[in-house]
Amino acid sequence: MEDRYGHRISYLRVSITDRCNERCRYCLPEEQQEWLTRDDVLTYEELLRVIRVGAGMGISKVRITGGEPLTRRNVLWFFEQLGQIEGINDIGISTNGTLLARPAQNAETRTTAEQLRQFGVRTVNVSLDSLDREVYSQTTGRNYLDQAIAGIDAARAAGFESIKVNSVLMRGQNEHELWDLIEFAQGRDLLLRFIELMPVSTTEMLTEENFLPIGEAKKLIEFKYGALEPIPEFRTNGPASYFRIAETGQKIGFIGAMTNLHFCETCNKLRLTCEGKLRPCLGSHLEFDMREVLRNPEMTDDDVAKFFLSVVDRKPEQHEFRENYQPGRRMIAIGG
Ligand code: SAM
Repeated sequence: MEDRYGHRISYLRVSITDRCNERCRYCLPEEQQEWLTRDDVLTYEELLRVIRVGAGMGISKVRITGGEPLTRRNVLWFFEQLGQIEGINDIGISTNGTLLARPAQNAETRTTAEQLRQFGVRTVNVSLDSLDREVYSQTTGRNYLDQAIAGIDAARAAGFESIKVNSVLMRGQNEHELWDLIEFAQGRDLLLRFIELMPVSTTEMLTEENFLPIGEAKKLIEFKYGALEPIPEFRTNGPASYFRIAETGQKIGFIGAMTNLHFCETCNKLRLTCEGKLRPCLGSHLEFDMREVLRNPEMTDDDVAKFFLSVVDRKPEQHEFRENYQPGRRMIAIGG
């Protein structure tokens, strides 16, 4: 599938739940804490059907996200089925990590992380904004730092091909911890990425007081580690730009939706919200109701395939985040 601007679409990011066991200030503000009903959310069978049809249309990579995907019941069954879809050769999960070390249901594997690995999950992205217990609790609304770190360690033990740690930059919150996060990632051989706050879910956090641009974060890092060397040849199937710390060789990624003007150029993604809206872009209000198609008994897989094509055709050239974008939907439903 290719859109009007030459973006080749091969990546589907799928939110499987709007529920989360954390309450990040920038993602799930209190006034937005009301949940979809079970009937609103796509069933596992519906999700698998969309992914199966997508695989026939050139989708080869799927990342499962949420909410917190590991809070959904029987989620490991879903991953097992997902691992068997022909054409999907790259499965990832985005998680806050807090449930990765949970004992698995299967006697052969010890942890949820191991079981995910066994079902063919290749990469894990763990969100970790802070290593300071206070800041972690303030940011996520929960005191789960130890569980998140145990989850990262469980993922390392499970042998994923890549484990990334994503830290959202917040001035005055984790600004003083960038070096600690770098050392933490280096010690555990994790690929660390710093992410700019975006106007998804809420714009309340997106004030000058809170917003820390990647350019400034880079300077803070260079203050200790010396000039960061750009490594444009290193890419990870997303909008991150990577740099190397000369002394140690450690790679650090920066995801700057707000300040990187080339952010959308290599976009290869569609997003499926947990209630079945197909979104061609995270930073646009465009979304199309696939659930209606899936729940209409007269609609065949061909109709689902046509739906994919029509949405790809509407994919905008760029997101609208820099144009005073006001979010219309919660990040947990869209899936980060
Ligand atoms: N619960 C999972 C997790 O923690 O990764 C998956 C869902 S979460 C919505 C996915 C990612 O979106 C997280 O890394 C989170 O930090 C990021 N995110 C949520 N709201 C954001 C915002 N307003 N700006 C930047 N990143 C955001």
